Amino acid sequence: MQRVQPDVWETEVESPFPGLTVHAYLLVRETGNVLFYNTGHRHEIERMTELGGVAYQYLSHRDEVGKTLTLIHERFGARLAGHIAERDDFARVRTPEILFDKRERHLGAIEVIPTPGHSPGSTCFLVDSAHGKLYLFTGDTLYRDEDGGWSAGFIPRLNTVEDRETLAESLRLLKTLEPDVIFSSAFSGESGFQELAPGEWPVLVDRALAELLGRGGAILAARLQAYRSAIPRRLRRFRF
Ligand SMILES: [Zn+2]
Repeated sequence: MQRVQPDVWETEVESPFPGLTVHAYLLVRETGNVLFYNTGHRHEIERMTELGGVAYQYLSHRDEVGKTLTLIHERFGARLAGHIAERDDFARVRTPEILFDKRERHLGAIEVIPTPGHSPGSTCFLVDSAHGKLYLFTGDTLYRDEDGGWSAGFIPRLNTVEDRETLAESLRLLKTLEPDVIFSSAFSGESGFQELAPGEWPVLVDRALAELLGRGGAILAARLQAYRSAIPRRLRRFRF
């Protein structure tokens, strides 16, 4: 574990498959520590004992499900939290005690913000740190890419055109927030979190949106072209 903020500890990196790396983050609080995301590193889970254990574990989405959910619960009595839309995915290992499906405040300091698109239950968490900063845990909705920039978690071979629109809507919602530090679940560069300079956040989200919709625009244009060419010539004077 390494300390990355006065009250946030990052687990050692792990790589579920080549090109993808993940961290979990432990938020240390007087009223009970909160683990965001998940780690498969048993020695890191053991180290959390020295930091006060884990009272709650919040999953940003189903890709974080792993056997250690059970271990963390058994070791610390952690209560698991996740979006109701992915309850069946979580239940393969553990059914969350805390389920949510709308924007609401938890534990006095955590705003749960559903941001579907990457997956149906993808959720971000905006945390009011006791040290004065606002932390945004973005899951895979926005992830840090290999260049150190941030990209929308749109996976072309898994997500649909509709998911792209849903994800774009989620990014527009995130843009209205004012985080000081952002932490993704998966990332592909050197680091999975970033401290933001004033005014940097909306620029960063706009860039991710443009990238997301740029690719989408090309696909939609190709579909429209295919649709138009399938229409009999005599009807083509009607514009679409
Ligand atoms: Zn994911």
